[in-house]
Amino acid sequence: MKVIVVGAGVVGTMHAWHAVERGHEVVHIEREAEARGASLRNFGQIWVSGRAGGEELDTALRARELWEGIGTRVPGLGFRAIGSLTPVRNELELAVAEAAVARPDAAARGYKLLTADEARAVNPALRGAFEAALWCERDAAVEPRLAQLALREALLATGKYTFLPNREVRDVVGENAVRDDRGEVHSGDAVVLCTGAWISGLVREVAGEIPVRRVRLQMMQTEPLGEALTTSVADADSFRYYPAYASEALDSLQAAQPQDPTAAAHRMQLLMVQRLDGGLTIGDTHEYEHPFAFDTLEDPYEHLTRVVESFLGRPLPKIQRRWAGVYAQCVDASRVVHRQRVRDGVWLVTGPGGRGMTCSPAIAEKTADELGW
Ligand SMILES: Cc1cc2nc3c(=O)[nH]c(=O)nc-3n(C[C@H](O)[C@H](O)[C@H](O)COP(=O)(O)OP(=O)(O)OC[C@H]3O[C@@H](n4cnc5c(N)ncnc54)[C@H](O)[C@@H]3O)c2cc1C
Repeated sequence: MKVIVVGAGVVGTMHAWHAVERGHEVVHIEREAEARGASLRNFGQIWVSGRAGGEELDTALRARELWEGIGTRVPGLGFRAIGSLTPVRNELELAVAEAAVARPDAAARGYKLLTADEARAVNPALRGAFEAALWCERDAAVEPRLAQLALREALLATGKYTFLPNREVRDVVGENAVRDDRGEVHSGDAVVLCTGAWISGLVREVAGEIPVRRVRLQMMQTEPLGEALTTSVADADSFRYYPAYASEALDSLQAAQPQDPTAAAHRMQLLMVQRLDGGLTIGDTHEYEHPFAFDTLEDPYEHLTRVVESFLGRPLPKIQRRWAGVYAQCVDASRVVHRQRVRDGVWLVTGPGGRGMTCSPAIAEKTADELGW
């Protein structure tokens, strides 16, 4: 069987991975010389902690397992089972963490409530002030700037995989074929469009308006910290956004402790992961209204810097990079992904939102199962 995959972000690459694993030939077409979308711009968090119970958590846990297995075979993607800590600073935040630990699926996530001293034993870089921390053992990290390249190298080594960069797919032609902007037609037994947040153009032509929206985020990365940040770190604002934390305790927190005005205005939370070079990837903001800003704003960065410095108890190293990224998210946030048969033999897979890096191996596995690869 021959599979045509369009889009070389993590969703497309994982579809190529599963197709090759099942013995098929893959032609992978990418508009740019290398993917440059959300898959490169994210934290690289394999983030189980905040997922909604049920299908979303099951998908994230399966994907976490797949990432670990693939990471063993492809060390260059930088899989680390580092877990995460969410420090809490007062009774209201602590109550939300306690409610999370009381969930029936807490053990599957590896949730545990740690005292501040226990949290510092796990992550000694957290020298700032906090009362306790929610530990999530299942959280992990990969290197977003390296993962696609490392996976591609492994795919090329199989002899079953062809990468065609610098080609924009413009058309779906009949069944099971696409035409690129050089006029070349690529046909196979199945086509999977994994075109990320580009939901106009080709996608609108073949699928019409899809129930997916675009979300823009601001991020930054520091110079090396000079010491290990042994876990990823979130702040208690993340409780406000992730469905796993919905509880009466969260309602009380929302009512009694308004978010910092900058954080509220930009729908912010702190997420932070250390890169292999020691730098810290720090974010994020969420922008939903169009047109999106074309520049990055300083206030959110200043807020994040204050929060990180308060946890680390030390000044942040110099910021080396700032960027923004856009992901596609199902409008119905309870849906893990938008998977649609747009023609016979042609599938569109997009909209995993802020969980796409986490869930893509399991999303692609499900496509492969459903299509009988
Ligand atoms: C700032 C930020 C932080 C995030 N953090 C995390 C995180 O820590 N953990 C997590 O789980 N998720 C995270 N996400 C979400 C995650 O990054 C995305 O869900 C995921 O990367 C989407 O992958 P994708 O392959 O669908 O899209 P993309 O990575 O955008 O890839 C789509 C590719 O398709 C190509 N393409 C588009 N149209 C065509 C065409 N017509 N022909 C050929 N090629 C085409 C594009 O050039 C692009 O390379 C984050 C996202 C952002 C923006």
